[in-house]
Amino acid sequence: MMESTISTETVIIGAGLSGLILAVSLQQNARPIIVLEKSKGVGGRISTRRINNLGFDHGTPYWSDHYPVPASLTSLMRKDHKGIFIEGGMNQFAKFFSQTLPIQRETRVTRISKNADTWLLSTDSGHLYEAKNVVLTAPLPQARELLIQSGFAQEMIPEITYSKTVLSLNVLNELPSDTSQFNPSIFSFQNLRNLHPLGVIINPGDEFAEKYFEETDEEILKKIAAFSDQAGLPLNVKTSELKKWRYARPLSHLQESYLEVDENLFLIGDFFSPGQIDGALSSAEALSKHLTRAI
Ligand SMILES: Cc1cc2nc3c(=O)[nH]c(=O)nc-3n(C[C@H](O)[C@H](O)[C@H](O)COP(=O)(O)OP(=O)(O)OC[C@H]3O[C@@H](n4cnc5c(N)ncnc54)[C@H](O)[C@@H]3O)c2cc1C
Repeated sequence: MMESTISTETVIIGAGLSGLILAVSLQQNARPIIVLEKSKGVGGRISTRRINNLGFDHGTPYWSDHYPVPASLTSLMRKDHKGIFIEGGMNQFAKFFSQTLPIQRETRVTRISKNADTWLLSTDSGHLYEAKNVVLTAPLPQARELLIQSGFAQEMIPEITYSKTVLSLNVLNELPSDTSQFNPSIFSFQNLRNLHPLGVIINPGDEFAEKYFEETDEEILKKIAAFSDQAGLPLNVKTSELKKWRYARPLSHLQESYLEVDENLFLIGDFFSPGQIDGALSSAEALSKHLTRAI
């Protein structure tokens, strides 16, 4: 069967924060776009998992200080000593930004190749996409892997190491009498915000994640439970789930605001200055300015 080819001006690979912000901005400038996302959901590392009606923000729990919270979400905006968050789950940002966008979900880009003056993208959904501009938003190690598999020279693509994260998402039978005795950098009680404080995320830290990442989920959960017993007071846990991020946060960032690795083939994301959420947002904004000026 012949694969169908879908053409547009700009294909954005990834519906995480940087891809969504760029897509919204290009769309507002009336530029034709398609977003391709390998997962079922949008948001990438902005991610809320619901268990027993409790929302667990197992990606970034905090929003940027520098980017305004959309007006329709300000009533849910809260702030604690670490930063701004959204009551009910950070994934509401992703839902908000994605609502008007043409996003092809469950569509993983497997190869990027040149075709005269356009780019051709092969995907695991069977469709081919053709575009003048391609923007890759995956964490840099994944972007590198895709580009190298597609035949690009390794020297063209910078390298940055990411920290790993393993987290257990726990529904509690009862809340400990004094949550303030738990180290907040390890124990993040969920929904204290909206008075259903029966969930806690336990994050034993980067060193732990690096050491045990490749073990089975069951083994890691056991080790997190043992770690938590040592680090806090006993918790009355009803159920636990594991979440692993192989590329959680970049350990450094590039000084540029985005990168053009080949003509009209761009990288944006959290590995650009100033890094993490702010890097994802500012690289998307910088590339949007470039693309709307250049086209
Ligand atoms: C546990 C955790 C805690 C964090 N805490 C903070 C914090 O406190 N402060 C902070 O600033 N940042 C924090 N971060 C980092 C922050 O979440 C990220 O910097 C930001 O969300 C990155 O957005 P992005 O769009 O650049 O990348 P991503 O969110 O990773 O988006 C990339 C998207 O591309 C998709 N994709 C990848 N490859 C392909 C492909 N081949 N085809 C199609 N789609 C593809 C992915 O599925 C994903 O949706 C944290 C992250 C984690 C995991």
